[in-house]
Amino acid sequence: MPLKPDHQEIIKAALGPHLKGCPICHTTQWELAQDLVFLPSLTTDANINLGNGQPCVSAICRTCGSVQLFNVFRLGIADKIGIKQSDA
Ligand SMILES: [Zn+2]
Repeated sequence: MPLKPDHQEIIKAALGPHLKGCPICHTTQWELAQDLVFLPSLTTDANINLGNGQPCVSAICRTCGSVQLFNVFRLGIADKIGIKQSDA
């Protein structure tokens, strides 16, 4: 799901207090991915369950490429960017 420009600003504001130095290279230069990502859950027999999972925003370290994922519900921005709990 591509992010709209106003959604990017909402996400940047929500991530601000949480993004510290990169855990790999310790620099502090992050960029926001242009799309939301989805982490699927697994069924009890270890198959991918696309019906449940976590919609996330991802921040990418500009130096080493490390990716940090943040659940949109835990960030408190799901409603602001048009994600409903039933979509997860
Ligand atoms: Zn890094």
